[in-house]
Amino acid sequence: MSDPVPTVWVLGDQLHRRSGALADRGPGDCRVLLVTSERKVASKRWHRQRLHLVLSAMAHFAAELREEGFDVDHRTAPTLAAGLRAHRDEHAVARVMAMDPMSWDGRELLDRLGVERVRNDQFTCHYDEFAAWASGRSSFKMEDFYRWQRTRLDVLMEDGPEGPEPAGGQWNFDHDNRERPPKDGRSWPTIERFELDDIDRGVIEALPESCWGAEPDGTWPVSRAQAVARLDEFVATGLAPFGPHEDAMLASEWKLAHSVLSSSMNLGLLHPSEVVEAAADAYWAGDAPINSVEGFIRQVIGWREYVWGVYWLWMPEYRSRNALDARRAVPPVLASGADTEMACVANTMRHLRDHGYAHHIERLMVLGNLALTSGIDPAAMTDWMWASFVDGAEWVMLPNVIGMALYADGGRMATKPYASGGAYINRMSDSCRSCRFDPKQRTGEDACPFTTLYWDFLARNAETFAGNHRLARQLASMRSLGDLGEVRARAVEVVTRLDAGRL
Ligand code: SF4
Repeated sequence: MSDPVPTVWVLGDQLHRRSGALADRGPGDCRVLLVTSERKVASKRWHRQRLHLVLSAMAHFAAELREEGFDVDHRTAPTLAAGLRAHRDEHAVARVMAMDPMSWDGRELLDRLGVERVRNDQFTCHYDEFAAWASGRSSFKMEDFYRWQRTRLDVLMEDGPEGPEPAGGQWNFDHDNRERPPKDGRSWPTIERFELDDIDRGVIEALPESCWGAEPDGTWPVSRAQAVARLDEFVATGLAPFGPHEDAMLASEWKLAHSVLSSSMNLGLLHPSEVVEAAADAYWAGDAPINSVEGFIRQVIGWREYVWGVYWLWMPEYRSRNALDARRAVPPVLASGADTEMACVANTMRHLRDHGYAHHIERLMVLGNLALTSGIDPAAMTDWMWASFVDGAEWVMLPNVIGMALYADGGRMATKPYASGGAYINRMSDSCRSCRFDPKQRTGEDACPFTTLYWDFLARNAETFAGNHRLARQLASMRSLGDLGEVRARAVEVVTRLDAGRL
């Protein structure tokens, strides 16, 4: 006979007690299932801290639910489907429900397995609402979406003579937030690490040999309580100094004043609305300036939710986009941490190795820029970033890598490729000072690989970019180079050495 108690299946990135199918249910109303898939664990060369974070957060969530009185079946199985099958066999469950998964494949899987889906409530804008907003628009810019979000969610808005208007008199304080790295040797907000417990230690012991990166050290919140503590800490110490240097890169600083809250939001430990509310409250209380608060809130209800919306709008064909026909494998400097003389790449990779994290400009203008200008395959790069960052997920990485960093969607998301030579990195980081390459040189042994690859990238794709007026100036500069032949010959050497892990 079937068991009348339904099962709520909680997926590994939906770890919130008041979310989805679990929201209104108590211990007597349902049984809870969590499945760790061996296939998923073995599917990538995960960063140690990334895999530990997900597995430990699932185990902590299961323990909290048990403590509350829930009957929890947390099992490891060859696949998610096998885990559900075994659960159904053991408990003769008639009804299984789950919140809409965070991935396209997850949603397909749940439908195939006959799992009832409950609407996903982990974002402030559901992807159906995003699709409705986008429909009928010939272009849908992030900035337009962000302003729509601010207005409808009433975030950082104040009364004006003609109705609600943005706090501080303008929507966007970007121009205040692009300062170069300070040279005054200032200290940056520190974060409290969480003590590892028996659950953490058990997970660490069982991590597969294939993992890479530094051991988990309590940097990443694995429970709701830890995530809330991290949010409070950021608002108290990191939010005010966040804005001005959010795009700067310092060799000695892996996060500067960045919030490092993305992993908690992406696992469901924090809801974006509470994060935004806490930041906005700090502004209204006079504890943080508008440029920092606005810049941070734009990342959360603007960029993050925009990326979530376009993922669902353009999947599943979006993941195979490769508009620039880039075919190169992820090079050893990224794929296996090979040594490099490129100081900016070495510094970013050190941050990534030690923490499973690098901030948005290191991702976009160092790792992404290298992949774009050297022609790395977009799907392979997406996969590598997904496995390497603590906050990685398909919905995050696909639009950010395919659309934003690698221009593999042909300009659907970014109106021009984010390619740059060494000049940008020299302006926004302190890496070039200690690098054996020269950001101003494009040919010769001392030439900065970014500078060489930038010009080669423009030359290689000149035909494709011919109609893009935003690139007209750069293409004209490229054509006027007297040494373009030498630059392109040097680019061949650069990618050969990059491929061989000798750059
Ligand atoms: Fe990076 Fe080039 Fe600067 Fe070296 S010179 S740190 S490779 S941008």
